[in-house]
Amino acid sequence: MPLNEILQHSPLGFVALALVLGLLVGSFLNVLVWRLPKMLEREWRLQAQDMLGHPAPAPLPTYNLMLPHSQCPHCGHSIRAWENIPVISYVFLRGRCSGCAAPISKRYPLTELACGLLSGFIAWHFGFGWPACLVLFLTWGLLAMSLIDAEHQLLPDVLVLPLMWLGLIANSFTLFVPLHEALWGAIAGYMVLWSVFWVFKLVTGKDGMGHGDFKLLAMLGAWGGWQILP
Ligand SMILES: [Zn+2]
Repeated sequence: MPLNEILQHSPLGFVALALVLGLLVGSFLNVLVWRLPKMLEREWRLQAQDMLGHPAPAPLPTYNLMLPHSQCPHCGHSIRAWENIPVISYVFLRGRCSGCAAPISKRYPLTELACGLLSGFIAWHFGFGWPACLVLFLTWGLLAMSLIDAEHQLLPDVLVLPLMWLGLIANSFTLFVPLHEALWGAIAGYMVLWSVFWVFKLVTGKDGMGHGDFKLLAMLGAWGGWQILP
């Protein structure tokens, strides 16, 4: 029997698969949340220097989502594959680096656990099919965005905008709401906060929120239509 038929007929199998996948994705999200803001800052700095006409700086060492390999921030010990198993490695290492015994932040296993449990819940709620697969991507994106926003007050376009398109594409097949509701949900989501932003700015002279918030609400509107907007 092909895998998709097995998953269709075994809801628990699908939940278990989503849970394990969610734990692994959570491990990747830890890297993304830590590195993406640094990558963006590096890019902006280079652009600013270029715009100001400063001489091009010496090329910096490679820094992306894959390289350099993960290390302990205290002693530089390279994280080996068995030390990188979501949640399990943390428990096995009793929350300490195997090189220098410095404590590892609880945030890493908690992110993995949250991602695993949310993914399992989505699989259970939607059952096997396209809606579940797409909502998993949405959830992983939202989890990464919340963590980055909480720490850096930043909602990277590179996460928000592809998810907005994905919502519109999904609804072009009326997966969650009809396309016209999704389209107007995206427009209304942007406009609601854009208006609040400008009213606040005209009254107080201050910026009350970032433009990332407009795009985030537009993205949610693209998935759920205008009905989900406040
Ligand atoms: Zn260490």
